[in-house]
Amino acid sequence: MSERINLKQTLAMRRNYVGKSCRLHFDASPLKIVQALKQYLYDDFGNEYLDCINSVAHVGHCHPHVVSVGQEQMSQLATCYGFLNDSMVDYAKQLVETLPENLCVCYFVNSGSEANDLALRLARAYTQQSDIIVVDNAYHGNISSLIEISPSRLKTLGMEKKDWVHVVAVPDTYRGIFRESVANPGILYAQEVKKVIQKVQEKRRTIAAFMCEPIMSQAGVIIPPKPYLTEVFSYVREAGGLCIADEIQTGLGRTGEKFWGFQTHDVVPDIVTMGKPLGNGHPMAVVVTTKEVSDSLKEFSSTFGGNPVACAMGKAVLDVIHNEQMMSGAKSVGKCLLDGFRAIMPTHPMMGDVRGIGLLVGVEIVMDKQSRKPAKEAAEILAYKLKEQKIIIANEGPDKNVMTLSPPMCFTCDNARRVVQALDKALRQIENDASQAGLTSSGGYPMIENPDSAQVPFIILGDLSLNNNKGTKRVQEKDDDDDAPGGKKTCIG
Ligand code: PMP
Repeated sequence: MSERINLKQTLAMRRNYVGKSCRLHFDASPLKIVQALKQYLYDDFGNEYLDCINSVAHVGHCHPHVVSVGQEQMSQLATCYGFLNDSMVDYAKQLVETLPENLCVCYFVNSGSEANDLALRLARAYTQQSDIIVVDNAYHGNISSLIEISPSRLKTLGMEKKDWVHVVAVPDTYRGIFRESVANPGILYAQEVKKVIQKVQEKRRTIAAFMCEPIMSQAGVIIPPKPYLTEVFSYVREAGGLCIADEIQTGLGRTGEKFWGFQTHDVVPDIVTMGKPLGNGHPMAVVVTTKEVSDSLKEFSSTFGGNPVACAMGKAVLDVIHNEQMMSGAKSVGKCLLDGFRAIMPTHPMMGDVRGIGLLVGVEIVMDKQSRKPAKEAAEILAYKLKEQKIIIANEGPDKNVMTLSPPMCFTCDNARRVVQALDKALRQIENDASQAGLTSSGGYPMIENPDSAQVPFIILGDLSLNNNKGTKRVQEKDDDDDAPGGKKTCIG
């Protein structure tokens, strides 16, 4: 594929025309991805990268069946809002068949954020209450109503929490308030939720809903200990509230065990929201709820929600998951990843924890196993070092120290072994450099500076290594706007 403009120009144009708060992966040396296939990404130089992070490309980038179904529907009817259409009802039926019987009514929207916003509306319409309980460090979407209930964003944006938002402890047995050494952490964490409900009731209110991910992805791949969700759901329901499962990251067979994350906890939510992987890259999202909850909503409309192209592609994704037995793949490949990481963990002083289910896996990078202090800079350097080995992995979690994998479901055991070997090698270099430099748990790593804090664009030269302890080697360049096709107009100051 011939590229119209080179990476440098694209970067300059992006700086010029796109909001600065829209962050890039590897913002010190961003990649320009021009093509993708299955679990591989290709940059403008033809380099192939193993994609461990694009859960959106659920059944594999550009899956031919999904693409051809989308193209065919696009050539027939792209949108015709307000008319009967088989594409929508076929898809709704097939989706509902993957869920417990009472979850049988669908609402179609365009993004995970819209789905979660609608879930809040449904819960409030049904309960006539407005208080919401969420788990600390959660992220539920980018629109105002969801930023208000996303503790991760309240913290980064320095926003005050509204009095109707109630944040409960992350049920994290590695670094949370109840750890693996205590008996029944699931019950203890659930009691924290009960206490919050009681406090709300003391104010003569009650809660509309408890919203959470069945496996807390952005909070650092936290798997709530059993019977946390069973207990919490019963406390919430006793108080008259609804339980909302945000399955935007965890659904559609990703856990390998069950089709939906909540099913791995033996609970049935009142509302399920789904997004990211549904259209394999085509933007679409769905809310599924019970008839009773659905009937409480007086009005809803969405111009693009449930359009025939989205529904045809959504149905094609479900067919591929089934026909290519992707759940059993996720289960066995997920096990390869976990076993591989666990096998190398004892040899790595900075590998604090390995956890996950199916193809959602997290590896905690810590200063040392004793203190469990998050090693953010080391995790960030690790991500860059893996990029040098042509592997794309993210460092997530509240401290950005959890190497997180959520790859396309066609990821293989060979891919898993490659990632484990590469991480083993890169982390060993980081650990050796850290120990030579005498860095302790209170010491600091050379920071990778965010180029957005610089006034002019620059590129990274060479690798990011700790070898000389001087940190990132880089050169500053003159402002590239002059090179950008389309003239010199500068929109962003
Ligand atoms: N919930 C969760 C758990 C998510 O991970 C995301 C997206 N990262 C959202 C909601 C919001 O989805 P979207 O970006 O499609 O609006």
